[in-house]
Amino acid sequence: MKTNNLLNKLSKLSKLNKLNKLRKIKIGGLVYKIEYISGLADFGSTHFDKQIILINKDLTDEKKVSVLYHEMIEIWNEMGDFNLNHQTIQTMESYMFQTFKENEI
Ligand SMILES: [Zn+2]
Repeated sequence: MKTNNLLNKLSKLSKLNKLNKLRKIKIGGLVYKIEYISGLADFGSTHFDKQIILINKDLTDEKKVSVLYHEMIEIWNEMGDFNLNHQTIQTMESYMFQTFKENEI
């Protein structure tokens, strides 16, 4: 049982470690480069024209993953012309983070 718990924790850690170090992500057929920048004014931002996602390097690993989800939603919003307001995007970010984390997706 203890070994299973340890393996479970390691599995969760490796998923988080992988996600917070992701260097590129393909969304809607376009490859977005992910850059981690120290001292970034915001948590993150997306440059649609250059296909670059910037994430603040100073954030915790969990927050980096949450910001990545946020920027993914921003890209879907732009591509789909959904006109979601920023509060909606932030709420969806927290729902994604919570659902994926608690279900180990
Ligand atoms: Zn945003």
